[in-house]
Amino acid sequence: KGVAAVLSGSVTHRTAFNLFCIPGRVAVVTGGHRGIGLEIALALAEAGALVYCLDLPASPDANWKKVERFVNEKLEKSNQAAGLLHGKMYYKQCDVTKQKEVWDLLEGIAQEQGRMDICVANAGILRGEEVLDYPGEDFKKLLDINICGVLYTAQAAGRQMVKHNTHGSIILIGSMSGSIANKDMHWTAYNASKAAILQMARSMACELGSKNIRVNSISPGYVETDMTKAFLETRPELKATWSSHNPLGRLARPDEMRGVALFLASDASTFCTGSDLIVDGGHRAW
Ligand code: NDP
Repeated sequence: KGVAAVLSGSVTHRTAFNLFCIPGRVAVVTGGHRGIGLEIALALAEAGALVYCLDLPASPDANWKKVERFVNEKLEKSNQAAGLLHGKMYYKQCDVTKQKEVWDLLEGIAQEQGRMDICVANAGILRGEEVLDYPGEDFKKLLDINICGVLYTAQAAGRQMVKHNTHGSIILIGSMSGSIANKDMHWTAYNASKAAILQMARSMACELGSKNIRVNSISPGYVETDMTKAFLETRPELKATWSSHNPLGRLARPDEMRGVALFLASDASTFCTGSDLIVDGGHRAW
């Protein structure tokens, strides 16, 4: 009966490939000009989305227009070669700790494009300092970016998703550090901020489900980006130590966050909300 129903077209049927295609959907990714954010932004654009990357105005290597042109030319070529609808990437300057700035920017994007579908709240910082000496100002700054910035971004996107009646997907980038602690790393403040992200995703999912908005988090393990490079440069032995903490025996490449983000952003995950997807190479399996 099942096969007959599929063949007669009476079952809503999308090819597995189509499930991951998001042509014309509008996405914002904070911290999208490097590291994990850039890889996720590229994945969404390659799947057809119009992706707005939001980064600090003061980014040292941010030659916005040049980067935008370069990326879009590459996208067009690779998608044409694959016979796919190509998405686009736009760079916007924005400090996620400025609530009004974030709200206004996302309102403008949604107004221009007529919709808002996907939000990846990825921007974050990591400052390691011994907990007994951690200066209050540094602690507040970290929480401001890692918690408030994520909330402002998610709420700004959520407001536009409701306004434009899109079935939106909000993805918060947490960390395995939200549920485990690391000996010798002095990451108490960071870990606390990432624990908050897990609960923010779950709670927002409960609040926004009736508005057809899904909220999930991703918890990566150690990923080789500028964030971890800073530690590996001063303590090179950490690479072997961290690698030995998971069954795969290595750190993740930032592009290994693409698939899981695209899954959550696309129709492949329409019944997934309030989930945390762990991408840690099995770190917590042992
Ligand atoms: P990077 O340091 O490489 O990139 C962080 C990005 O966030 C940069 O683009 C940065 O912009 C942006 N950013 C920082 N502050 C602000 C702000 N106030 N407003 C707007 N943008 C801002 O980090 P990763 O790619 O490694 O990390 C991305 C996310 O993944 C973070 O939330 C991190 O906590 C999380 N994560 C990372 C892991 C890892 O091992 N790398 C592991 C688990 C989670 P700019 O370049 O202008 O400074």
